[in-house]
Amino acid sequence: MSSGDSRSSGAARSSDDSRSSGAARISDGAPHGGAAIRLADVEHRYGDVTAVGPIDLTVPEGEFLVLVGASGCGKSTLLRLIAGFEEPTFGTVRTAGEPPVPGRGAGLVFQQPRLFPWRSVGGNVALALKYAGLPATPQRVDELLQRVGLHDVARRRTWQISGGQQQRVAIARALAVNNPRPTTPPATRDRTKGLLLLLDEPFAALDALTRERLQEDLRRVSAASNRTCVFVTHSVDEAVFLGSRVVVLTPRPGRIALDLPIGLPRTGIAPDELRGSPEFAALRAEIGAAVRDRYSPEVSA
Ligand code: ADP
Ligand code: MG
Repeated sequence: MSSGDSRSSGAARSSDDSRSSGAARISDGAPHGGAAIRLADVEHRYGDVTAVGPIDLTVPEGEFLVLVGASGCGKSTLLRLIAGFEEPTFGTVRTAGEPPVPGRGAGLVFQQPRLFPWRSVGGNVALALKYAGLPATPQRVDELLQRVGLHDVARRRTWQISGGQQQRVAIARALAVNNPRPTTPPATRDRTKGLLLLLDEPFAALDALTRERLQEDLRRVSAASNRTCVFVTHSVDEAVFLGSRVVVLTPRPGRIALDLPIGLPRTGIAPDELRGSPEFAALRAEIGAAVRDRYSPEVSA
């Protein structure tokens, strides 16, 4: 926190900023307009380095937002701010109208699945349920594994399954987090509302075919769960295929260079048909141009 700066920190700002007083009303139980995530004038610094911002971004409930940007432009920082692992240097972050609480209401998936090798596939999912303060019943574990197509390998150790399957375990584990914040009014508490799935380049380490399969599954799983997703990638193809909205960030400090709704059907279309459609090609060209515009050889290294 830089208290000497002319702009005030997230906490200090609440007394003098109209947007923050709006946020205070929100946490009093007023409707938050369907916004799962709201970033208001958010900037994050590491020492003297401004990693992201300022950024204003509102993500409605159920949206699948994909963030695309050069390495080092602050994508992971943005996800950590949304997950509550970092506090913004300036501005406010709200999830379901409240300051995010780490480990509550958001499941995270990283490039490396980070599984516990001494536990079975099912055991890893059960542990995630326990950490989220939820009953780890065999039925619930099975249900989560079914959703990512892994129910038949539940008893295997994580080193006995492929890299793609390991990443599926990580997704199942992230989906296990369905515990709304304790401050959520009981009347509005249900199993899907306000829940986030935050994915940081989760398929980057996988081979192309496995990657496509997982993209297809994630698209299906997210449409079925109606969870709000924020997905970070370098791949324009992946962004168009997965997103209901794509935001292209500038090189550091990451700011919004392009914010584009993706009007492609979310269900009822075969993945190959979608990938081969003229609409897909047009979106890929538009986003690709924005990304190329923003990348220079120095920053994409
Ligand atoms: P991205 O995920 O887009 O590659 P990051 O959010 O990881 O970008 O990083 C954004 C910028 O902030 C980078 O320049 C990075 O070096 C810097 N950075 C990230 N985390 C830290 C940290 N903990 N301390 C200092 N600098 C950091
Ligand atoms: Mg990153």
